[in-house]
Amino acid sequence: MIIVKKPQELEAMRVSARKTATILHKVAAKVAPGVTTLELDEYAAELARKEEGICAFYGYHGFSGHICASVNEEIVHGVPGRRVIRDGDVVSIDFGLVYGGYVGDTATTVAVGNVDPEWKRLLITTEDCLTAAIGKAVEGNRLSDISNAVQVIAEAAGFSVVRDFVGHGIGRDMHEDPQIPNYGPPGRGPVLKAGMTFAIEPMINLGGHKTQTLNDGWTVVTKDRLPSAHFEHTVAVGKTKAEILTVPETDG
Ligand code: MG
Repeated sequence: MIIVKKPQELEAMRVSARKTATILHKVAAKVAPGVTTLELDEYAAELARKEEGICAFYGYHGFSGHICASVNEEIVHGVPGRRVIRDGDVVSIDFGLVYGGYVGDTATTVAVGNVDPEWKRLLITTEDCLTAAIGKAVEGNRLSDISNAVQVIAEAAGFSVVRDFVGHGIGRDMHEDPQIPNYGPPGRGPVLKAGMTFAIEPMINLGGHKTQTLNDGWTVVTKDRLPSAHFEHTVAVGKTKAEILTVPETDG
């Protein structure tokens, strides 16, 4: 069942999501050659502590990180560790925070220094996919209109859509109904209502769509080891326009 949030719940989600996005923004700004993914993880944990929030991924089914850090061929669920970020990498950071009983979930992919132009185009396209998908999160549309918007843009650019992992409803729980695939025909699934809240998260590959999970039980990589990009926002379906909830506080 898809939960339609009441106005006071949406207000609580705005607060939580804003904190989530602000932390992601700060962690993403630390991504640089020579930095390890564990250092980024520790920074996220420190920022979450200061905000008196709970890192949603930490301990989730035994996950050891406060963020997911997925480099190059890693699509999602990269476990923070000793991997050193290098010039030319693309680094996806995914962060979830629980605050005031509500979860925010957001991700971005950072291009580090001198990145291959095709890889850069992959990042730009994936962000375009997210923007287009969010544009469909409007009352009266069907759920798969979101999915289709991602697929159309990704494939027109010559890239492929990850099938094995999907977006999701979000609220008091990180993963609520519905599942939101990033592919499929439009006009299917439930009719959207204002107040539904979704984590929309296209994962787009430079090569084929197939995935593989590494022996750590978490890290998902592209089967062909070509790079992947991932962008995510927590959004609320609106009457005429979606509202992005994971907007960072500006520095003033
Ligand atoms: Mg998510």
